[in-house]
Amino acid sequence: MLADKDRIFTNVYGFQDWGLKAAQARGDWDDTKALIARGEENIIEEIKTSGLRGRGGAGFPTGLKWSFMPKESKDGRPSFLVINADESEPGSCKDREIIRHDPHKLIEGALVAGFAMRARAAYIYIRGEYIREAETLQAAIDEAYDAGLIGKNASGSGFDYDVFLHRGAGAYICGEETAMIESLEGKKGQPRLKPPFPAGAGLYGCPTTVNNVESIAVVPTILRRGGNWFASFGRENNHGTKLFQISGHVEKPCVVEEAMSIPFEELIEKHCGGITGGWDNLLAVIPGGSSVPLVPAEQIRQAPMDFDGLKDVGSGLGTAAVIVMDKSTDIVRAISRISYFYKHESCGQCTPCREGTGWMWRMMERLRTGDAAIEEIDMLQQVTKQVEGHTICALGDAAAWPIQGLIRHFRPELERRIEEHNTKFAEAAE
Ligand code: NAD
Ligand code: SF4
Repeated sequence: MLADKDRIFTNVYGFQDWGLKAAQARGDWDDTKALIARGEENIIEEIKTSGLRGRGGAGFPTGLKWSFMPKESKDGRPSFLVINADESEPGSCKDREIIRHDPHKLIEGALVAGFAMRARAAYIYIRGEYIREAETLQAAIDEAYDAGLIGKNASGSGFDYDVFLHRGAGAYICGEETAMIESLEGKKGQPRLKPPFPAGAGLYGCPTTVNNVESIAVVPTILRRGGNWFASFGRENNHGTKLFQISGHVEKPCVVEEAMSIPFEELIEKHCGGITGGWDNLLAVIPGGSSVPLVPAEQIRQAPMDFDGLKDVGSGLGTAAVIVMDKSTDIVRAISRISYFYKHESCGQCTPCREGTGWMWRMMERLRTGDAAIEEIDMLQQVTKQVEGHTICALGDAAAWPIQGLIRHFRPELERRIEEHNTKFAEAAE
C-alpha cells in the first residue's frame, strides 16, 4: 500500500482548505521560480525519467508529447497548453476531486508544464456540469494572479504566462482533444482528423499540447521529488502513483491514490472494504471507465491495475475508473445502457459511428429482452467490427469495445435470454 509520505494528492478528501495559504502549507508553490530556472529541456527530461504516461485514458508518454512542441516560434505564432478537465467518461471522477480540493496543484503544474513546452498560456476546459468546481478553480486562479504566481513575470521567473478557464456545455465529445480545440475556438465541438496532431496544428492553428488534469497536477511534485522517485512506483512501462476511482458494488466506494500496478484484489480490500456480499458475489469489473471492455471476476482478481496488466486480460486502464458489478447486476442491461450513452453522445460526423452506435444500441436492447434470433449475436459482433477503427475519433471504438467484451465473456447469458424468450413465446402461442 502506498505510504502517506508518498501521496501527491494529500488533500484529495478535502479535509483541509483548498485555498492558497493552505496549499502553500502543503508544499505547493514552494520556490516555483527555482523549478522554472531549471530550463525547458531539463524539465522535459525529468518528466521522461519519471515514466509519467497520460492520465486521461490513452496513456501516451507525457514527456515525449511535450517534446513534440516547437523550440522556436514559427512566424511569431504562440504555443498553447490546453488542460482537459472535461471529465465525462462514465465512472470517472478523479479530476473533479483534484479541482475541488487541490486546485493549486493544477495551476502550478499548468505554469511549469507550460514553461517547459514554451507555451504562452494555458486554457483549462472544464465540463459544464462541474459548476461549483469551476467556481473553486476560478477563485484559485484569481488567488494565483493576485499573489503574482501567474501572469506577468510569473512567480518572479521572468516568464509571462496566463491561465484561462473555459466552461464546456455538456457534450461528452468535447473531451476528445481536437473537438475540445474546436469548441475553444467557438465552433461546434467535432473531432478533427489526426494527423496533424495538435502539437503541429492545434488551437487557432498554433502548436498545442492537450493534457489531462491529473497529468499536469502531478508535475510540480515530480520535479521537486525527482523523476526517479515517481518511477520507483509501479513496474516497467507503468510507473508512478495514480488516482483510482472505485464505484459500484463495493462496501466503500472511493477515490484513492495508489501505486500503479497494485493488484485489483488488494486495491479493493485495502480501500473499499471488499466486494458487497464477498468475493464469491463478484460478477465482473469495468476497470477503466465505460469505454474499456469488462473483465469477468475470475480474471480480474490478481490483475495488476496498470496499462499492461489490464491489456493482458483484454481490457485497459483508461482513466482508472473502476466499476464493480456483483451478481445482482443485469450485465446485459448495463452494457445496453452504456451503448445508449455512446449513441446519444456521437457527434454524427462519420457514418460508421452515427449509424453504428444506433444499430448497436437497438440490437443490445433486443438482446436485453431476449426478443432476438441467436444469429444476431454474431451479427452484432460484426457491426462492432465495422465501427471499430473506422471512425475519426475514439468514440466509435469506445462504443464497440464494451459490447465485444460482453459477447466474449457472457455469450451463454445472451443465448439463455433468447431461448427463454422464445420458450415463453411458444408456450403463449399454444
Ligand atoms: P490517442 O491515443 O489518439 O492520443 C493520445 C495522445 O497522444 C493525444 O494527445 C495525441 O495527440 C497524442 N499523440 C498520439 N500519437 C501521436 C503522434 N504520433 N504525434 C503526436 N502526438 C501524438 O487517444 P485519444 O483519442 O486522445 O484518447 C482516447 C482515450 O481517452 C481513451 O483511452 C479513453 O479512455 C479516454 N477518455 C477519457 C475521458 C475522460 O473523461 N477522461 C473521456 C473519454 C475518453
Ligand atoms: Fe463524431 Fe463518432 Fe466520428 Fe467521433 S467517431 S468524430 S464522435 S461521429
